[in-house]
Amino acid sequence: WSRGNFPWTKKIEANNKKVFGNHSFRPNQREVINATMSGCDVFVLMPTGGGKSLTYQLPALLCSGVTLVISPLVSLIQDQIMHLLQANIPATVLSSNMDWSEQQDILRELNSDHCRYKLLYVTPEKIAKSDVLLRQLERLHVREQLARIVIDEAHCVSQWGHDFRPDYQGLGILKQKFPTTPVLALTATATASVKEDVVQALGLKNCVVFRQSFNRPNLWYYVTPKTKKCLEDIDKFIKENHFDECGIIYCLSRMDCEKVAEKLQEYGHKAAFYHGSMEPAQRAFTQTQWSKDEINIICATVAFGMGINKPDVRFVIHHSIPKSIEGYHQECGRAGRDGQRASCVLYYNYCDYIRVKHMISQGSIEQSPVVSGYSQASKVVPGRILETNTENLLRMVSYCENDVDCRRLLQLVHFGEKFDPSTCNNTCDNCVKIKTFVEKDVTGTAKELIELVKLTGQRFSSSHILEVYRGSLSQIVKKHRHDTQRLHGSGKHLGKGEASRVLRHLVTEEFLIEEVKKSDLYGSVSSVLKVNDAKAHNLHSGALKLIIRFPSSE
Ligand code: ADP
Ligand code: ZN
Repeated sequence: WSRGNFPWTKKIEANNKKVFGNHSFRPNQREVINATMSGCDVFVLMPTGGGKSLTYQLPALLCSGVTLVISPLVSLIQDQIMHLLQANIPATVLSSNMDWSEQQDILRELNSDHCRYKLLYVTPEKIAKSDVLLRQLERLHVREQLARIVIDEAHCVSQWGHDFRPDYQGLGILKQKFPTTPVLALTATATASVKEDVVQALGLKNCVVFRQSFNRPNLWYYVTPKTKKCLEDIDKFIKENHFDECGIIYCLSRMDCEKVAEKLQEYGHKAAFYHGSMEPAQRAFTQTQWSKDEINIICATVAFGMGINKPDVRFVIHHSIPKSIEGYHQECGRAGRDGQRASCVLYYNYCDYIRVKHMISQGSIEQSPVVSGYSQASKVVPGRILETNTENLLRMVSYCENDVDCRRLLQLVHFGEKFDPSTCNNTCDNCVKIKTFVEKDVTGTAKELIELVKLTGQRFSSSHILEVYRGSLSQIVKKHRHDTQRLHGSGKHLGKGEASRVLRHLVTEEFLIEEVKKSDLYGSVSSVLKVNDAKAHNLHSGALKLIIRFPSSE
């Protein structure tokens, strides 16, 4: 797809410069444009800031007809439209909170022979709820004036993703109604299973997939223990490393946002808070102040950020554990979009994990976009979503508790990407800490741990398995008579932390699956380990060796 001899090659190059003011294409932009303009269904995974908008805005400008763009957030849409109008590209939005007469005008214009709009933005609920709109799209389609359907933030389709929205699920109807119209699905976060889910739910056919590395070399990653002095620590960190620079502090709750902002103001920072229960006008005001550099620091829930286009954010701080690795990666991705160095610091303690877990089970956690989503719609969290969210959170916990492996490696593994940690160049806390390490063959330990999981009936948590393996005689171990198990105490000779590191590795590499189970009346959640026989077999047959890094001091 990178070829330079498509019929439109000259045109896209000229317009990229003239209309959008770009000197060249960024990675995959040209390829995506070629594929979608050839009429293929296309799925694009591009990190935040990678330049996804251009991949449909440029084709929209050059193709006849209207490009339909589905995007989750009205404020984000308005921002896009403002930029398009500045570049003299006619674009508009149809949303339920507009006057009916205004909506009528737009629908009428769409119906006219020479509709002036090149892009029509709508929110997903508009597709779900407005028959009038669907009929209008059908008319456009019949007149061959529906150029392309773009689905932004496409991961919201998937229940396995970190940001599922029910309204996105209905979008499969578009491909059913308009089977010949090319669909372009865009996202900045998706694991392999989320991608499959999205492709299926949208009904994409022979879809061309573009993905690029999620590694952001200019971001430096740190995880640090969260203590009572957390706010003093944050103040010190900013003053020492990012004095008077621009940053975002992600907080768990609305109250946290306000408290953190207040404290930072006391410390002399130009800080403000931003969250979902502020008045729209107040939110817009804060956002404007921030884009004009009148305030440096925004203390926000994840409601802040989607579509934030500030290139010079120099730090992203997580005041509490994020809900998922995908979410974390995306939130960090708002730093350093100009390619210059930026810091991502996560303050972690176990209490916050319990807090988030509770909020997830209550459905009271703020979702990134403000328009829709189950958390606003109802307080009942469906079982499968609860499980997914809890699992995502557990992965985040193991990321935070890991103090050996390169942070980049841990993140990229999650996105199904290979990464050589020696190329991190000491830009994460773990790589800095572990200047020297040894590689150890832990195949034997791994086999024993897997066997122990089997021997105990695949009904116990990782911490329990570790206790038994290291020979604990605790009450619970005795109660289940695990002190009489053949492998009880086999791991006694191992250095502290070694067995747990191997076990963690077995889980992240999916030799063992951590299954989430609701354990008591209060809906508290625990997880049990199951063996993934297909993978474990390779270890037992000797086809695979397991080699992992350890700090050389251990
Ligand atoms: P995404 O949606 O992938 O997060 P955007 O489409 O918002 O990213 O683009 C991020 C920024 O990069 C925007 O400011 C945009 O103008 C800029 N940009 C996009 N493509 C190019 C390019 N080819 N050259 C220079 N800047 C670009
Ligand atoms: Zn590293």
